[in-house]
Amino acid sequence: MSTDWIAKARDLNVQVRNFIGGRWENVGGAPLEKYAPRDGQFLTQMGSGETSEADRAVALARTAFHDGRWSKSSLQTRKDVLYKLANLIERRLENLALIESLDGGKPINDALCFDIPATAATFRHSAETGDKLFGKVFSADFTNLSYQLHRPWGVVAGIVGWNFPLLLAARKIAPALMAGNSVVLKPSELTSLGTAHLAEIAVEAGLPEGVLNVVHGGAPIGDALARHPDVDMLTFTGSTATGKHLLIASGQSNMKRLVLECGGKAPNIVFDDAPDLEAVADGILARAFRNQGQVCTASSRVLIQEGIKDELLQRIIRKVQSLKLGDPLQPETRYGALVSAAHQNRVLGYIKKGEEEGARLVHRGSSAVPFPSGFYVSATIFDEVQPTQRIAREEIFGPVLCVMPFRDEAHALQLANDTIYGLSAIAWTCDLSRAHRITQSLNAGWIVVNATSRPTGGPTGGLLSVGGLKESGIGVEGGIEGLEAFTSRTAVQLFL
Ligand code: NAD
Repeated sequence: MSTDWIAKARDLNVQVRNFIGGRWENVGGAPLEKYAPRDGQFLTQMGSGETSEADRAVALARTAFHDGRWSKSSLQTRKDVLYKLANLIERRLENLALIESLDGGKPINDALCFDIPATAATFRHSAETGDKLFGKVFSADFTNLSYQLHRPWGVVAGIVGWNFPLLLAARKIAPALMAGNSVVLKPSELTSLGTAHLAEIAVEAGLPEGVLNVVHGGAPIGDALARHPDVDMLTFTGSTATGKHLLIASGQSNMKRLVLECGGKAPNIVFDDAPDLEAVADGILARAFRNQGQVCTASSRVLIQEGIKDELLQRIIRKVQSLKLGDPLQPETRYGALVSAAHQNRVLGYIKKGEEEGARLVHRGSSAVPFPSGFYVSATIFDEVQPTQRIAREEIFGPVLCVMPFRDEAHALQLANDTIYGLSAIAWTCDLSRAHRITQSLNAGWIVVNATSRPTGGPTGGLLSVGGLKESGIGVEGGIEGLEAFTSRTAVQLFL
């Protein structure tokens, strides 16, 4: 018998509390109401947070770092705890997946098959890379031995967005802890239900109290962390606008180190020598409408070579018709709700703007929704989009696909790179030389050629480090370099 997720949701504890110093605490500040994306109904009330809570979390994280309860623990201890944490996350798969689905409106099936397994895998990956971080050693003339020392920064603050709440948090927490730092994590105020549970599970896995703290709130709490004189490093996932703000906050405070993973407007380029167009259509849909298009790497600009454009577009439209809106808590649903009423209105506003600007609306899904007050927007496709139009330039972060024709390779590259973003890109071609040529010219931190596989959380599931070019970010996550970012580098010279 399949699980009755709706019944389970009724019994779920949806109280939002901070987790500071190993203890649950109420969140202060003005009340914020949380509505469930699936039906728009009131879910819970939380505080909007107080800067004193962030200050206290930073102070406890600093104390923990100084006394060495974690920062001076052996590599093996840290690995053991992270592995155990990954196992415990998997043991709570159903509960955590339900929280993610209820909180963000994503299909329960996605949360069960991707979000939670990828969150656990992130902790395992950090545990595995922990003993592979080597500095350089230099001993050329027998008078001295010089080497690089990697040390944890100290207190790391993490600020994350709402589209994959637990996974984005894990990408900050796991490498930061593996490197020996203490952490204060602030989830998005739009999806606050799950992350603090991760901190509690970490303590159960053996992480000393005070090393990982979760504080809730919106921009003011994020800003307090970004300006905090006792935060050594800030790692962020969210919009480019907020990323720029954090750069200023760092500069105006203590020049804390930054890793910024920001927005994108990825091109999906289909050449007329692409493999099987059915597979291309599948690949485009999988990457444009996954998580209802709320993915930083969603390839929302589809550039198709003129000769095959009409045929491919017809195939895409035929396939998108099966992408029906469904209640995220029904196991068969593959396409759920957007995160909030405000975001729903923002995306609908872009669709209206696209029509006003003269783009041709070629697909607008059925308006039948599981609950009239849920935050649904069906998969939408515009053809004949001009590169100057707002829907082609701005990150919509929703289920809106912009199709543009191109003449030749040079034209495709010019359109693809005509954006302030440089996060990711996809290209489809059977010409090996062209594949290598265009990957040299595409301005993107992550390029996939012939994206026939299921989307993963990053290049080869996080084994390679990745980071945005241009205004998509600074620094990298994943791989050894992603772990290295959570350490400072000191050059040591020892005269013999
Ligand atoms: P956002 O920038 O509005 O918010 C992200 C986080 O920053 C939230 O926790 C928010 O409370 C906090 N914040 C907002 N204003 C702040 C301020 N002035 N000072 C300090 N903190 C502040 O982004 P969002 O709407 O939550 O997420 C969507 C964005 O995230 C999109 O642009 C998307 O592309 C990006 N994103 C990027 C990646 C990546 O890996 N590059 C991954 C997921 C999402």
